[in-house]
Formats: sequence, C-alpha cells, structure tokens
Amino acid sequence: MSNLLRIAIQKSGRLQEGSLDLLKESGLSFSNGKDQLKTQARNFPVEVLFLRDDDIPQYVEDKVADVGIVGENVFFEKQKKNELVKRLDFAKCRLSMAVPRSENYTDVQWLNGKNIATSYPNIVKDFLQKNNIKAGIHEISGSVEIAPGIGLADAICDLVSTGSTLLSNGLKEVEVVMQSEAVIIASPDLDIEKQKILDKLLFRIEAVRKAKNTKYILMNCPNESIEKITTVIPGMKSPTIIPLARAGWSSLHSVVDENDFWERIDQLREFGAEGILVVPIEKMIV
Ligand code: ATP
Ligand code: MG
Repeated sequence: MSNLLRIAIQKSGRLQEGSLDLLKESGLSFSNGKDQLKTQARNFPVEVLFLRDDDIPQYVEDKVADVGIVGENVFFEKQKKNELVKRLDFAKCRLSMAVPRSENYTDVQWLNGKNIATSYPNIVKDFLQKNNIKAGIHEISGSVEIAPGIGLADAICDLVSTGSTLLSNGLKEVEVVMQSEAVIIASPDLDIEKQKILDKLLFRIEAVRKAKNTKYILMNCPNESIEKITTVIPGMKSPTIIPLARAGWSSLHSVVDENDFWERIDQLREFGAEGILVVPIEKMIV
C-alpha cells in the first residue's frame, strides 16, 4: 500500500476534468472515477484522492497525500510545506483587483484606506505590503464579486478569466495581482520509491505536453523545392523523403512546432508544396 503515490485532485470544479485528463493522457487508467473518495490506477502505482481544492495543500503537508494538483493561487495562498513541482498549462486565470466601474481609479494608491473583499487574504496582504499600502482585508469564501454592490467592501480581489463576471457586477479590473494555472505540488521529502513514481509520471506528462505543441506534417512537393522547403521550417532539419509515383515529385514528412508551421505556410505553398496534411501527435519522447 505504502508504495503507491497518492495524488490529491479536486473532487468537483474547474480543475477536476483537466486533472483527470492529464493522468489519463499519461497512460493511467481508472475503473471509475468521480463518485468515489479515492480510486487506484489499474496500470500504474498511483492512488487518486478526490478532495476540495482548498484542502489539498494541507493534506500534502500532513502527508495524507504525496502530491496534489491545485491552482497556483491556492498553492501561494495556503503557504504550506509544499513544493511547486510543475506548471500544467490548464485552468489559466489571474487573480485581480477590481473596483466599481464608476470609481476614478488612477493607480494602486487608490486602495489606501479602503476595504478589500477576497478569498485570498494572504496573497492580498503580500501585494499590499509590496506596494506600501494599508487597506482592510475582508475574507469571504465565495461570491466575492457582489461585495462592493452590497456595501461590504470598496474593492475585491478575485479570480478572473474573461472578465464577464466582473462586468455583470458593475466592476472593472484594475490590477493583476498574479497569473495562475494548475500546478503539481508535492511534499518536499518524498521517500525514494515515491519520488521514482513521481519522476516517471512527470516524464510522461512532459511527453504529452511536447506532443500537444508539435505536429506531424506531410506534403507533396516538386523535387527541386525540397531543399528550400526544409530550410523554411526550422524543425525540418532531416525530413523523411519518399518518392511519389508522379515523376519529379516527393512526399516529405517531418515533425514541427505548430507555430513555426503556421508562420511559414505561405512560403511552403509558394515553393510548390501541395496536399499539406497536419496530423496530431499523441506522445513525444525525445
Ligand atoms: P472547491 O469546491 O474544490 O473548493 P472552488 O469553488 O474553490 O472548488 P473552482 O471554482 O472549481 O474552485 O476553481 C478551482 C481553481 O480553478 C481555482 O483555484 C483556479 O486556480 C482555477 N480557476 C478558477 N476560476 C477560473 C476561471 N474562470 N478560468 C480558469 N481557471 C479558473
Ligand atoms: Mg475551493
């Protein structure tokens, strides 16, 4: 039992699906997830615990879980003995200050002497200290955006992704306090066995991440353009070249960064590339 790596993920909410997908894309399979408190992977020494995200840093500190997936905002707020092991590229949002739209906000000094409602009192405290501002912090656990409207606070500090919640509550975003995304946190002193399992999992996660930004591309091109084409796409140092039945033409295959590809598409066509296919890669081990 003790040689299972216990991973705490959110039971339900914005991180749940992304966290489970990450584990599944890394090749872990589970009998059935959601409604249990915990589940064991069938093919990897991992047990998943389903918890409220706010509780995860504490569970990791207490070694009830070895590893957790939380928002960076929660990691910084809780200030537990956890290490940030890896950023995961999903659940991206920002923690921002917002004030009523009618306020004439000029700069951060506006917050001096005001009351700020937030679910992130520690992060807000640090922010105020760094900016030399004295303001009251009113901690509330949810529906922070209604606080100014009901006279509870002058400003709020809350998570924002599109800003539509702020807008519909008559607020405007005025300062970004921190950017956040889902992260893996871990106990700083995992035993060797668990560290090995975690390293193996991190290796797989990295392979999946690389694959997401990389595409397999195939195209047909006139033989005389092969050299030019391989120089316009940086990743295409040594493509696979297969002669086509059509005389003077080849099929060219390579692995490229998706962004590079889109930037060079016009040039490829100018050089006579035809029938360009861009195919997703599932895993990439380099
Ligand atoms: P729980 O019941 O587990 O405590 P919660 O209500 O605190 O859940 P969620 O709203 O599910 O939490 O958000 C979880 C995390 O998802 C946040 O801590 C944050 O990192 C991220 N997040 C929050 N809002 C957004 C958003 N609008 N877009 C993207 N990510 C977000
Ligand atoms: Mg929560």
